[in-house]
Amino acid sequence: MAAITLQNIVKKYDDGFPAVNDVSIDIEDGEFIILVGPSGCGKSTLLRMIVGLEDITSGELKIDGKRVNELAPRDRNLAMVFQNYALYPHLTVFENIAFPLRLNKAKFSEEEIKKLVTDAAKRLELTDHLDRKPGNLSGGQRQRVAMGRAIVRQADAFLFDEPLSNLDAKLRGQMRSEISQMQRRLGITSVYVTHDQTEAMTLGDRVAVLKKGVLQQIASPRELYEQP
Ligand code: ADP
Ligand code: ADP
Repeated sequence: MAAITLQNIVKKYDDGFPAVNDVSIDIEDGEFIILVGPSGCGKSTLLRMIVGLEDITSGELKIDGKRVNELAPRDRNLAMVFQNYALYPHLTVFENIAFPLRLNKAKFSEEEIKKLVTDAAKRLELTDHLDRKPGNLSGGQRQRVAMGRAIVRQADAFLFDEPLSNLDAKLRGQMRSEISQMQRRLGITSVYVTHDQTEAMTLGDRVAVLKKGVLQQIASPRELYEQP
């Protein structure tokens, strides 16, 4: 787990217009932050800068107080959960979840990998599907495989990019409570991008509202709800 600090973060793409404009947020260790706002407000850009997939034009990004602006994604120990799952179609569910552990071969024995993957699968109700391939899974199951991969990595923080946007309403509700329970149990620092108000108001410790790249407000769901 880690604290993530954004100080006066700016992102300008080639057209020079700031997609993210002077955003400062202190994300506490173990906190679940929602980034919400309409399409084009800069949510994904902000997330991609945190994970290191996009350069920061100016400002400081710190993880546990240490500046990481120039660190490669692999050196930030953050796990990203995408809406398109990014699963390997030729690998089984087990191997998809185990994948980040195998990249760390020096650290994990086969036995440890088996235990970590089995435990994650149990928590995500994927035990019966470990031998299947992603192509044979439903959208919700694929989503859970993607979450399993983030869980086994024991990352310092989870970054979610609209992870539920491809699911139908029922599954979305299920996954929402699953994510919320997981967050309560694990207390992993999370940054969660969505344009869905319900997700914003039910999942987060705090909600950061972006508009045209500018941070409009940041408050707990209760505080936002009670505002006129
Ligand atoms: P959101 O995730 O809230 O929909 P984005 O972060 O994707 O918003 O986009 C914010 C702004 O930056 C938009 O105006 C978008 O057109 C622009 N933008 C995003 N990605 C690029 C890019 N690779 N090159 C140029 N402009 C981009
Ligand atoms: P590969 O995934 O084939 O090793 P990449 O260049 O895609 O090569 O990624 C290198 C490392 O960077 C990955 O092992 C991973 O730790 C990290 N990484 C890449 N993309 C992401 C992402 N979206 N979220 C978190 N970490 C990432």
